[in-house]
Amino acid sequence: MAKSRDRGWPADPEPLPLPVVDNHTHLESVADVLPDGEPVPSVDEHVRRAAAVGVDRMVQVGCDLPSARLTAELVREHPALVGAVAIHPNEATLHGGVTEVGPDGLVPSPQARHAIGLDAAVAEIADLARANDRIRAIGETGMDLFRTGPAGADVQRASFRAHVALAKELGLPLQIHDRDAHAEVLEVLRTDGAPERTVFHCYSGDVEMARYCAEQGWYLSFAGPLTFRANDHLRAALATVPLSQVLVETDAPYLTPHPHRGRPNAPYLLPLTVRTVAEVTGTPLHEVCRQVSVSSEDVYGPW
Ligand SMILES: [Zn+2]
Repeated sequence: MAKSRDRGWPADPEPLPLPVVDNHTHLESVADVLPDGEPVPSVDEHVRRAAAVGVDRMVQVGCDLPSARLTAELVREHPALVGAVAIHPNEATLHGGVTEVGPDGLVPSPQARHAIGLDAAVAEIADLARANDRIRAIGETGMDLFRTGPAGADVQRASFRAHVALAKELGLPLQIHDRDAHAEVLEVLRTDGAPERTVFHCYSGDVEMARYCAEQGWYLSFAGPLTFRANDHLRAALATVPLSQVLVETDAPYLTPHPHRGRPNAPYLLPLTVRTVAEVTGTPLHEVCRQVSVSSEDVYGPW
């Protein structure tokens, strides 16, 4: 088989016995992924393909201004979707005028949208959430010390605190992005108080942190990295927390699960991660699916 084929969309996995919710996906970016000349799938096609393998609903996340505006439209058009909106920590730094190079060594490149200041950007997020009852979460917000240095960390912290306050004001759950910033994120939640429903999107901490989060009543959402061979610490973290506080997500088009790393990701690949949850926790697959659906509605409400 030609090597280029291997970068295309993976085949459909075996369908799940009961439907589950993809708790965090970026469909507007998934629809943009174009592997090697294949036609670009529409959001509709992604929703249908996911439903065919048991992923019947999704939380669509718009975490820069253009994708947050688009999310507000998508959730009105597609009954399978509810939305989360926020200014991502790596967007917050650019709205805040910080362009320092982080540990990842990449030079940040501000776009036209970043001419809007951080306060005004967060205010627009608040307006989008207030005006639309299909926006069911504030996220993803948090801190990302992989991408920024000390000046960026200050801006990210301020932005995170503003989003925590907004989630509490609107009575919405919070989806947290925490990359190389476990201590910093937990400190903000301790100081300001977490919203009643708090989700660690793409949980990346260790067993000890997982136990702490579970004790606080928070949810841990596991993505493709749970399936990667090297990530024993994530599987140990999962095994530590009650299944009723476990959610699953693709974070598509990023974090494609094993064995398809290097190829594009989409919600129809979520069953690979769900099966890993069943194996790691020693729970029947149908029970994992049932519990994830119940917990997803506990967090985001029915849809
Ligand atoms: Zn994401």
